Amino acid sequence: MSDLLLTLANRPGTARILKTLGLPSPTRLTRENGGFAPKPLNELRTLLLSPEGSPCQEELIRILSNAGADQESRSPLEAYEEETSQGRFQVIVYDGTMIREVSHYRSLYDHFHRLTNRLSHNAKVVLLARDFTSETDPELAALSRGVEGFTKSLAKEIGKKGSTANLIYVNQGTDSHLEMPLRFLCSHHSAFISGQALRLNNQLAQPDALPLTNTLSGKMALVTGCAGGIGAETAHRLSQEGCQVICLDIPAVEDSLNHLANEINGIPLPLDITQPDAIETLSSFIRQHSDGLDVIVHNAGITRDKSLAKMPAHYWDSVISVNLAAILKIDQHLIKEKLIKPEGRIICLSSISGIAGNFGQSNYATTKAALMGYAKAQAQALIAEGITVNAIAPGFIETNMTAAMPVLTREAGRRLNALSQGGPPRDVAEAIAFMASPGAYGVTGQTLRVCGLGIMGA
Ligand code: NAD
Repeated sequence: MSDLLLTLANRPGTARILKTLGLPSPTRLTRENGGFAPKPLNELRTLLLSPEGSPCQEELIRILSNAGADQESRSPLEAYEEETSQGRFQVIVYDGTMIREVSHYRSLYDHFHRLTNRLSHNAKVVLLARDFTSETDPELAALSRGVEGFTKSLAKEIGKKGSTANLIYVNQGTDSHLEMPLRFLCSHHSAFISGQALRLNNQLAQPDALPLTNTLSGKMALVTGCAGGIGAETAHRLSQEGCQVICLDIPAVEDSLNHLANEINGIPLPLDITQPDAIETLSSFIRQHSDGLDVIVHNAGITRDKSLAKMPAHYWDSVISVNLAAILKIDQHLIKEKLIKPEGRIICLSSISGIAGNFGQSNYATTKAALMGYAKAQAQALIAEGITVNAIAPGFIETNMTAAMPVLTREAGRRLNALSQGGPPRDVAEAIAFMASPGAYGVTGQTLRVCGLGIMGA
């Protein structure tokens, strides 16, 4: 559904009227249409702010150069002067891994005080910090967490220009895990992700092959709920990365499923995942078409909203059954049968409702929060096999579901985030494609919000 305010705010004639009326003026976000590119930072003015002596500096320079950026490390003053003479920066990578005492925070101020207003529209800021949050030293733990607060605040300040700020926690031994996460967060593939922190885990071994483009070439994925808004977009996006997709949805939507599978050379599977024989049907289908799955996206989901006092039992039961019970059973079976390959990727669609709770969604929020807990624990259980398990929590996504909301609820949902707009299903599919890529091998057990830094649960 079209967003009138976004259209008016990006037309020269009407933008000023919106400002005069004090209405939000969201910036139209720049997005990518294709797969991950070999040089995503080509032609983007990129600034690396990395202090002398940083153990990450060399790797950062390598990664950014490999991504096509023509960057070098500079002091804030030089950066400011160069910016005014040559144009605004589109990408800034700030290396805060040397922050070890409170006085070091001053570098955040020194760097961003001048540069914040000098970013171009749709700019990407990525900060790096050491993850001391589980340290016994309270001061170090405080310092790590503080960078997260800074990142979220910066994200809110630059969001009105369509820009984003995100944080990557890197630990000793995870510097080599950085490449794909950094490329993703510095590129327009992550347009609707802001104010988020990704933690890199060094317990997972590096895969033999780490393709940065065509990342899923020769691989097999299963996407459930494929006929819906996010599912169809995910199937398309994974197929852009070279993956073959088993497109699963209920038999009632078989026509759309066949149509989608046709478009992407996928394999349609009409199946209700809550049926008693669903698991046997699914595993023999997987065996028939492959030697196992590389990627499984648990996307099928339903809402049956009512306040708890008015909610009929079948609303409760059906949501628990589709959104949670079926997923747990499928994974349990596929893992036992070794139908998820080593270095596989399990991705569960959670929701901001699971983080913040939502009136009338006690059933839905229970399942979506459960999936975050599941991803965290299952990730630990599967570390030895190199299988990652993550959750994606979309915020306000422009789908049939949100188009059906009452107009005022819809407007509030759209505007209450740092970017003042909803995201298309493609934004969620981008996050899934990133999580599915071999290069995301250090990201596991996490929940990544795709919400433009929505205020709910932030
Ligand atoms: P959608 O309703 O467009 O698609 C969901 C799909 O799941 C449908 O095609 C449906 O037929 C399928 N499905 C339902 N029950 C099934 C079953 N028993 N077996 C097989 N397939 C079944 O929804 P969407 O907006 O694309 O959402 C996709 C996922 O993202 C859901 O899990 C949803 O909870 C989550 N999510 C969506 C939003 C949003 O704003 N749209 C926000 C947060 C989370």
